[in-house]
Amino acid sequence: MTKNRSYEKEVFKTLEEVKIIENSSNFVVGMQDSYRHKGMRRQLVKVVESKGIRNQAVLDAIGKIPRHYFLEDSALIEHAYEDKAFPIGSGQTISQPYTVAFQSDLLNIKPGDKILEIGTGSGYQAIVLLELGADVYTIEYQKALYERTRRFLPQMGYNANFFYGDGSKGLSRFAPYDKIIVTAGAPSVPNALIDQLKVGGCLVIPVGNAKTQQMLRITKTAENKVQSETFTDFKFVPLLGEDGWKK
Ligand code: SAM
Repeated sequence: MTKNRSYEKEVFKTLEEVKIIENSSNFVVGMQDSYRHKGMRRQLVKVVESKGIRNQAVLDAIGKIPRHYFLEDSALIEHAYEDKAFPIGSGQTISQPYTVAFQSDLLNIKPGDKILEIGTGSGYQAIVLLELGADVYTIEYQKALYERTRRFLPQMGYNANFFYGDGSKGLSRFAPYDKIIVTAGAPSVPNALIDQLKVGGCLVIPVGNAKTQQMLRITKTAENKVQSETFTDFKFVPLLGEDGWKK
């Protein structure tokens, strides 16, 4: 599994958790990745592929990551491999796998790319990015989700750089980024995100109203120049914060 250096100063793993991780790659704090789960995952990959995703690295990541680990409600675990969004607490959702695959594909990630993700949520999208070889910086607005995910991902053997705050303004401290992904629906494209991109980099962001958003890929072609491409419609939870929707 990909292991990236974390900027977090605290030590999150308890000794017990570390023992579990080291003892079995198939077992994370009380959850098991059974043959049945793996079988359901293979079916999910077929579904995502049938909807038009051809990027093999993205499909491999979807096929590898145990999505049932990410659902907060154990009653939903049986449904974890349906191509649907599910609640993860704090009124937020884990995105539909097809949506995760679509955004990941648009980013065209190269190993070593420095990526900013706005909306850590469950951490599932962050793991897909890590599996693609990215160095991931991810920011979450909901404290409880930030706390949970920054502890949970290392338990699974993955490390991103986790931040708590308003990502609608990006994360200027670590800019510039090769690519930026926004996993919540924005009312418009925040200028700060374009500013924090490298020339040649791109921003993938759903923009629209509260009901539906169009996926945009905005490529920074020169210091003061961008090129915008539009894709199909999606439905995301709102991007909150200063440059997002006001509560
Ligand atoms: N990438 C997430 C995943 O894989 O689970 C998707 C989570 S959900 C669709 C979108 C997330 O964006 C939510 O967790 C929400 O709290 C977060 N969010 C909304 N506005 C935000 C903001 N201004 N800054 C950071 N995160 C924000």
